Amino acid sequence: MAPSPTSSCDLAFDREHIWHPYTSAVNPLPVYPVRSARGCRIILEDGRELIDGMASWWCAIHGYNHPRLNQAVQEQLRNMAHVMFGGLTHRPAVELARRLTAMTPTPLQHVFFADSGSVSVEAALKMALQYWCALDHPERKRFLTIRNGYHGDTFGAMSVCDPVTGMHTLFQGFLPEQIFSEAPRCAFDALWDEAYIQDFADRLEEHSQELAAVILEPVVQGAGGMRIYSPHFLRRVRELCDEAGVLLICDEIATGFGRTGKLFACEWAGISPDILCVGKALTGGYMTLAATLTTREVAHAISRNDGVFMHGPTFMANPLACAAANASLEILEEGAWRSATPRIEAALREGFSACADLPGVAEVRALGAIGVIELRTPVDVARIQAMFVERGVWVRPFGRLVYVMPPYVVSPDELDKLVSAVVDVVRRLP
Ligand SMILES: *Cc1c(COP(=O)(O)O)cnc(C)c1O
Repeated sequence: MAPSPTSSCDLAFDREHIWHPYTSAVNPLPVYPVRSARGCRIILEDGRELIDGMASWWCAIHGYNHPRLNQAVQEQLRNMAHVMFGGLTHRPAVELARRLTAMTPTPLQHVFFADSGSVSVEAALKMALQYWCALDHPERKRFLTIRNGYHGDTFGAMSVCDPVTGMHTLFQGFLPEQIFSEAPRCAFDALWDEAYIQDFADRLEEHSQELAAVILEPVVQGAGGMRIYSPHFLRRVRELCDEAGVLLICDEIATGFGRTGKLFACEWAGISPDILCVGKALTGGYMTLAATLTTREVAHAISRNDGVFMHGPTFMANPLACAAANASLEILEEGAWRSATPRIEAALREGFSACADLPGVAEVRALGAIGVIELRTPVDVARIQAMFVERGVWVRPFGRLVYVMPPYVVSPDELDKLVSAVVDVVRRLP
């Protein structure tokens, strides 16, 4: 069929033929056509400008249409957009692996480039399984995780997502059955009590002989509930994994690259995982790219007796994506995010506190450049979305959560407008 002659975005065609995330094909939620984006602004086809509160799901940390990221991609494009990674390598990938091994905890020295966050989680699970196979423990095939987690939408990743919000019943019989302990109950700066870790410790002990690894999101649980928990919980998890001889996988796909106020959320607890997943903000939101890092010990065990790591995506280490990632990490290394994130945290905490006592609000919380208003009842997404757009901001709530994680380059004035709009909308909710 010939493309439509209209130059505008064909919303009717979109509605008839395109799946958007988690939507119905017959009764989809409305979508807003975007013409362009720059800095912290999204410009709609009708000319309206929205202040971005989402960083396109944690990704666009330096804002949109960034001159240095644009330049990095354009320069790489003059050399090549892509070559296969089997039998070939290239400067953008080597430079990126060098940066990642330097900026993550020292024990992590081996990098696997994946094409999305979910795939990097699959690679992490596979690394843990292959590690134990290589050590003659093929019976270690299960994973322990905490409730309310989110690790992606592919089947391995889904199996360790929260069983309720991850809709495990839908895929029952197909999805591997993992072990879940209660979600951390201790708030970020709550006084520590060993009771907080008891359920986790019990499950770990009960299943330690069949576990390949523990997997969790350090300190901030993202799409599974936007929960923020005590770094001490993470510290105890690391200790208990060491005592039980079980690997620890930290999924920093959402939290990595400064979002929580530390470069990686693991730093809040001063721990290093055995396997680390990064993605989302890795390319500054330019292209899909993720990575799974691991220790020499895990990598060398997998490689024993001519062993190989059994994964190799077609678009592995895509040079354009690596070039964008190198430019994004270079900007991070310059350090402006270190003053931006506490400034954003203070504004979100202070601004959202105006909602804390509303009857419809259960809790308000913030850490780094993340602010969350947890409501008592789920929102009507289409309606609340329209209210935000009317007020010139882009915020996309889900379930009972209204939350923002703006690009780090958000100006004080933009942040002020964003916070005011969120507070105003939440006040008007039924
Ligand atoms: C988004 C996310 C994933 C999945 O990444 P995709 O790129 O969407 O596949 C995995 N883990 C966490 C913590 C995430 O936030």
